[in-house]
Order: sequence, then C-alpha cells, then structure tokens
Amino acid sequence: MAVTSSSMLLRNFSTAGRVAQSVRVTSRIFFSTGELIRVLPYTRSSRSISSTRAAHNEEAAAKAAASVADTGAPTIFDKIIAKKIPSDIIYEDENVLAFRDINPQAPVHVLVIPKLRDGLTTLGNAEPRHVEVLGQLLHASKIVAEKEGILDGFRVVINNGVEACQSVYHLHLHVLGGRQMKWPPG
Ligand code: 5GP
Repeated sequence: MAVTSSSMLLRNFSTAGRVAQSVRVTSRIFFSTGELIRVLPYTRSSRSISSTRAAHNEEAAAKAAASVADTGAPTIFDKIIAKKIPSDIIYEDENVLAFRDINPQAPVHVLVIPKLRDGLTTLGNAEPRHVEVLGQLLHASKIVAEKEGILDGFRVVINNGVEACQSVYHLHLHVLGGRQMKWPPG
C-alpha cells in the first residue's frame, strides 16, 4: 500500500471481502474497498462562488500552516487530546481519539487521530514503526462509521501537505458521510 501521497481517500461500497487497492492520481492517492478503481485526472469542476471561496480559505489555511509543518510544534489536536479544549468525542481508546470536526463538510464529519503523534505530522512521514497505529486509525474509522450509521457509504480522507490543503500537522483521518459524495473530489 503506497503511503507517499498528498491525499488518501477510502471509498466504501459496503461490499465485504474486497481487497483495498490504491492508485496514485496526481497529488492524491485513492484507496478503494470497491471493485471499481477510478483513475481520473485531478481536475477542478465548475463550482459555486461560495465553494470557490471556501477552497481559497482552505488553501490559505494550508499555506499558513505549512511554516510549522515539520517543526514538531504542538497543534490544536494536542489540546483536544489533553481535554484542555472541548470536543465532541465519538470514539476513544488507548491509542486513538475520534471527534467531530469543528467545520463539518458533511452531515457526518469526524476526525480520527493517533493520541501519540510520534512523528506522524503527515502520512508522508509514516515509517515501518507506524504500521500498527495506521491500522488502528483505519479500524477506528470503521467503528466511527458504524456508530454514526453510515457504514453503507462513507469516505476516509487524509490530506497530506499544502497541495492537499492539510492545515493541522498531526495525522488525522476525516470520516465523512451522511450525504451523496461526488467524484472526482475537488
Ligand atoms: P486538514 O485541513 O488538516 O486536513 O484538517 C484539519 C481539520 O481540523 C479541519 O477540517 C478543521 O475544521 C479541523 N479543526 C481545526 N481546529 C479544530 C478544533 O479546534 N476542533 C475541531 N473539532 N476540529 C478542528
């Protein structure tokens, strides 16, 4: 499984037993649990003014965050893990915390993070020692989807780096669902 992408998307087609596969598409990697792997160029479709503005905000936030990307500086997620600031926690175990995104992009939008960052500012920094926690994050994403009642259709997204609009440098999986998703993603 390649992990050197700028973005990862998991698409669930609620079909058991299919092997996850990955395909690199420009700056993003798409993982699919479905039989259909789409290899599409990363193109921008026409958007409404507001969604274009939101995209620009995301890009600005990502560029601003890039300056601290690999400094190892604490992030807002450290405070959430330490419960110094409140969050709406959906799932928690020894290694993983899942809480609702403050700026949801879908009816269900939950962030799944490792409690111990251990160098995982980005997925691109993953090393062999991280394999176990990466698996735990994916499994926790499935638990979140189950708890939120979206197991039949949900996405798991990892934004990696500025080009993918990563704004918090503590690895996190976005679990999105509760509405019809579009393809290709913007
Ligand atoms: P990224 O853009 O790095 O992929 O995702 C970071 C996510 O963290 C964003 O979707 C953003 O809304 C979310 N976020 C940033 N600050 C907070 C916060 O204080 N609380 C919560 N719950 N989510 C946050």
